[in-house]
Amino acid sequence: MKSPTLLDGKAISEKIRNGIASELKKTNADGNNPPTLATILVGNNPASETYVNMKVKACASVGMLSKYVRLPEETTTEELLSEINKLNADKSVHGILLQHPVPHQIDERRCFDAILPEKDVDGVTTHSFGKLSMGSEAYFPCTPYGMILLLKEYGIEVAGKHAVVVGRSPILGKPMAIMLTNLDATVTLCHSKTKDLPELVKQADIVVGAVGKPEFIKSEWIKEGAVLLDAGYNVGNVGDIEISKAKDKSSYFTPVPGGVGPMTIAVLLLQTLYSYQGKFSPPLK
Ligand code: NAP
Repeated sequence: MKSPTLLDGKAISEKIRNGIASELKKTNADGNNPPTLATILVGNNPASETYVNMKVKACASVGMLSKYVRLPEETTTEELLSEINKLNADKSVHGILLQHPVPHQIDERRCFDAILPEKDVDGVTTHSFGKLSMGSEAYFPCTPYGMILLLKEYGIEVAGKHAVVVGRSPILGKPMAIMLTNLDATVTLCHSKTKDLPELVKQADIVVGAVGKPEFIKSEWIKEGAVLLDAGYNVGNVGDIEISKAKDKSSYFTPVPGGVGPMTIAVLLLQTLYSYQGKFSPPLK
């Protein structure tokens, strides 16, 4: 069997970021204002703080501005909605990112859905989800779209393949299943009530780990030659797939770290650039 190919999210994301930076150099040379991403962080979750800081730094690295809105742990839904509405109305803001998760007293779905579709560069609104489902242009959830861009970059055929997605959250597993369906894969979407998960994964040509449990998907479940996409990022720098062993059976695999994570941020920047340019991400097919 051919030795497995590492899907180098770090390198591909750098390529995307360099493309954005040079595009903006040209645009800003004409004296235009750069694109601006507004990031809202509610509360004191240290992991969320790290993610937001990474996104703010990433904006600066390509010549974008960021606006950081920091709200206290006890913020109410109404208070958060009012901040979102201010950013919706602010013409200098091209994209809005509400860092997930928000404190439990907040109606997260209501707040996500308050983001204007034209500024939903993180692809979290029901509106964007509907557009994705219809195969239209839209802003797509960044992590699954990052995985799709990796498949495209490496010329991995998806049509007719059996993809098994483990995890069905609205920002990750579920949209990934839709994206793969749109690209003509046959998709099995698994979750905590799924029966015989190992048997299903054993049938997969493409396995997507989107569970949030360290090395939950075992190497014994992996079919020879499968493509492994691991969105999981758990304590100890491990993903949701037991990748150290499973990669030897795979044809392609994403490492953790350096696979899906950097692609997520690159897609966020890309969609912010598109918003600045007044367009959406193109249909997947
Ligand atoms: P989530 O909202 O907690 O969803 C987890 C999903 O896994 C749920 O659909 C759940 O099923 C399913 N699940 C839980 N236990 C299971 C089991 N025993 N068997 C099968 N399915 C099971 O998590 P998430 O936000 O989607 O994140 C998942 C992982 O991706 C985390 O490690 C997170 O850190 C990572 N992530 C990474 C990035 C990135 O940029 N790289 C971005 C987002 C998330 P139910 O629906 O039935 O509860």
